Amino acid sequence: MAPGSSTCRDMTDSRISSVDYDTLTLNTEWRSSSLGKSATSSRGNLRTSFKDGVHELLECSVCMTMMYPPIYQCPNGHTLCSNCRGRIPKLCPTCRHELGNIRCLALEKVAESLELPCSFQDLGCHDIFPYYGKLKHEKSCKYRPYTCPYAGSDCSVTGDIQFLVMHLKDDHRVDMHDGSTFNHRYVKSNPREVDNATWMLTIFNCFGRQFCLHFEAFQLGAAPVYIAFLRFMGDEQESRQFCYSLEVGGNGRKLMWQGIPRSIRDSHRKVRESQDGLIIQRNLALFFSGGDRQELKLKVAGRIWKSTEMDTGY
Ligand SMILES: [Zn+2]
Ligand SMILES: [Zn+2]
Ligand SMILES: [Zn+2]
Ligand SMILES: [Zn+2]
Repeated sequence: MAPGSSTCRDMTDSRISSVDYDTLTLNTEWRSSSLGKSATSSRGNLRTSFKDGVHELLECSVCMTMMYPPIYQCPNGHTLCSNCRGRIPKLCPTCRHELGNIRCLALEKVAESLELPCSFQDLGCHDIFPYYGKLKHEKSCKYRPYTCPYAGSDCSVTGDIQFLVMHLKDDHRVDMHDGSTFNHRYVKSNPREVDNATWMLTIFNCFGRQFCLHFEAFQLGAAPVYIAFLRFMGDEQESRQFCYSLEVGGNGRKLMWQGIPRSIRDSHRKVRESQDGLIIQRNLALFFSGGDRQELKLKVAGRIWKSTEMDTGY
């Protein structure tokens, strides 16, 4: 596949902003507890209906998301979230009365007393959290879904690793390789055109886990460079069990890099910006390519292994 030639099909419309994501998880959570699946609501019907009632009270009448302090109300008692209050005209959307600046402290207090299961209960998290601590926990919950590691477009598909591997294969047509060593060729006919649109992704399957090999062109200050780095499809803690090396060369010269794969919890952009990978200046890359330096022809060899104490320096 030529660099930059892949397209992310049918994905553009499904982009979800982080705010909407919170909404989404909260709504899902609300639905699951109203079905009686949540840990607390299963204690009794009375309790379930009380909880559902409170949930309904805590739902903003305008945007339907769960409200967090400051919660506002109109003089007639219609509540709405601070987001909507800042967004809509000065009239209450329910009774058209002027909104004013009235906090609904009672509702804020009720919310404070609630305890809710993590939204990722179905994915394995069985912790219970106070209403106000839940969102914070979910942002770093180890059971939260991963975001698609594809680098060519802003793909917002989320899921567990198994699901994402299938998604990369089926929807992004990413190359899959078995084994812990590799030899990869990157060819580009117009290497002068360095921009962030040049990238490639290959998935390696070894040790029963998956790794993403990224190859990207970008501008480092004024210098056009290429970077190759590995990301681990799993959490950071686990990624530290692995090491990898990359080498690129030609014309009797060689450049080597050894590193620890970064978790896909870190975006490829973040890894690229931290320069945590094999960086090749364009001039050197063209020198490695041989010939008349008009075409980029890089051979990147690499290896992944389970780290020992010697590798990590402990
Ligand atoms: Zn709202
Ligand atoms: Zn009102
Ligand atoms: Zn959790
Ligand atoms: Zn994707």
